[in-house]
Amino acid sequence: MATKSAYTYQSSVLTSRLWLVLVLSTLSLLASTEDYQQLMKSEDVVERACIKLQQFFPGQVFFPDDTLYKHAQSRYWSTQQGELQPPCRLLPKNAQDVHTAVLSLGAQNISFAFASGGHSSVTSASNIADGVAIDLSSLSDIELVDDNNAAWLGVGAHWADVYAALEPSGLVVSGGRVADVGVGGYVLGGGFSWFANQYGWTCDSAIEFEVITPDAQHLHVNVDDHKDLFWALKGSLGAFGVVIRIKVPTIRNRAVYGGAISYSQEHMPVLFDALVGLSKRAKDDLHTQGYVSFGWSEKVRAMGTSAYLVNTRSGEPSAAFHTFQQIPHIGSSLREMSLRESAEEIGKSNLYGFRRSKFTLTTNCDAHTMQLMHRLCRQANDATQFGEEDMMGVTFQPLTVPHLQAQSNIFNAPAEGSPLLLVSVEVWWSDASQDHYFEQRTQDLHSVLTAALRRANALRAFVYPNYAARWQNPFEGIGVERTQKLVAIKQRYDAKDIWRRLVPGIWHV
Ligand SMILES: Cc1cc2nc3c(=O)[nH]c(=O)nc-3n(C[C@H](O)[C@H](O)[C@H](O)COP(=O)(O)OP(=O)(O)OC[C@H]3O[C@@H](n4cnc5c(N)ncnc54)[C@H](O)[C@@H]3O)c2cc1C
Repeated sequence: MATKSAYTYQSSVLTSRLWLVLVLSTLSLLASTEDYQQLMKSEDVVERACIKLQQFFPGQVFFPDDTLYKHAQSRYWSTQQGELQPPCRLLPKNAQDVHTAVLSLGAQNISFAFASGGHSSVTSASNIADGVAIDLSSLSDIELVDDNNAAWLGVGAHWADVYAALEPSGLVVSGGRVADVGVGGYVLGGGFSWFANQYGWTCDSAIEFEVITPDAQHLHVNVDDHKDLFWALKGSLGAFGVVIRIKVPTIRNRAVYGGAISYSQEHMPVLFDALVGLSKRAKDDLHTQGYVSFGWSEKVRAMGTSAYLVNTRSGEPSAAFHTFQQIPHIGSSLREMSLRESAEEIGKSNLYGFRRSKFTLTTNCDAHTMQLMHRLCRQANDATQFGEEDMMGVTFQPLTVPHLQAQSNIFNAPAEGSPLLLVSVEVWWSDASQDHYFEQRTQDLHSVLTAALRRANALRAFVYPNYAARWQNPFEGIGVERTQKLVAIKQRYDAKDIWRRLVPGIWHV
């Protein structure tokens, strides 16, 4: 009896959904008229669409008063994103749900945003005020396949969950370095992992994507099927559809050796030399990686500096660590640990509850360039009026030659035989009335840095999507030829330019 009623319930929901799609497809015929488009912009229309969605996705649509809605909004990395209040949030349970949602919202001309882990610092990249938020966090299954040689990762999983699921099998994947970052955005925007020297960006080693395209095809894309889209997805951060899950190779690994070493400011010059040394060693030691960060904390009114190093080959330090250990330091957490423990350790230093502004640059990887940027960032920092809890942080990460040579993505980050330096600059503040001030300060710093780097002939065109500001355009850095190729691919999967109309918060080709 219970089975029958469950069956009846499911089939009635299915029939209703098909009906919804049919009715809405008819409505879409109207969508081109101006009056209709105007009507669709009003909040009421989105609210009505939400109520319809609720009928067709019972228990999966959440409204501002719902606890689950509030929880999801509070989990955005950037407070500005969490403050965008969509009239409802839809939690798809599977690819079919996403497919239906894309089709029905498209037919009603309702805008939407999709979020995996919600860790973008770009306001409106994964949330929306006047549309529906498609929250992919329930698509978080991790499944080992191909005799444990590969794993399907649900896009809504966080990296700590991925590592925890694989740990009992003595496996890891080339994934995120920070616990709470989501699989979806991280991989589709590139993905800088501790295994980058061996396998390139995480997207480079992806084996297959399951995706709902803008024209609502449900596809499995890989090196044989839809090869064009397989390439286009690697680095385009959602511009070619909503990815449901990603198949990646597994790596046998039970422990890494790594951790943070903290220094005082006077050692910055030698620390930069050490980082350059590390970047050059990559050719002989593919397993060791590291980055250097420095930043201001208004709370302690001090500039802090640290390096985070990881050797993925074994639970022992690699020779490259010695240079960093020889520099007089304040503290060190270097030890044997699992990749999950490292991701959780780094995660703890990344605090929730702040307003954010972030941008990225790519430069030559030499100590002179690092010192130049360090000096300019310090000057900008000294001239900034921070609130009590506010912070500013800069991270220098070498893009090594083996990393750049392993690329099979849309980027045009050149592998010319010398390492590059990936720079990210972030400001965190609490007071909403200071949004304009800090956003302006961040843009001013970007202008100062780019001007100085250009003069020094040290600036590169590559803009890493996962660290980019709204006002940067990662597609601009990939060159004319690749852009033309992407435009042609877009024509095949989004001929009517649906995505540009319906997904306003992302970068479009
Ligand atoms: C604390 C912290 C640590 C970080 N560490 C690293 C790091 O070690 N290495 C690194 O490379 N980056 C790192 N990043 C950057 C991070 O990878 C990006 O911000 C990434 O886009 C976040 O992915 P998400 O799914 O959590 O974010 P979301 O905000 O959910 O999504 C980000 C973007 O991706 C798109 N997107 C998300 N899911 C999908 C999907 N399923 N299909 C299509 N498009 C989708 C969204 O539309 C949005 O535009 C870090 C960021 C933070 C805040």
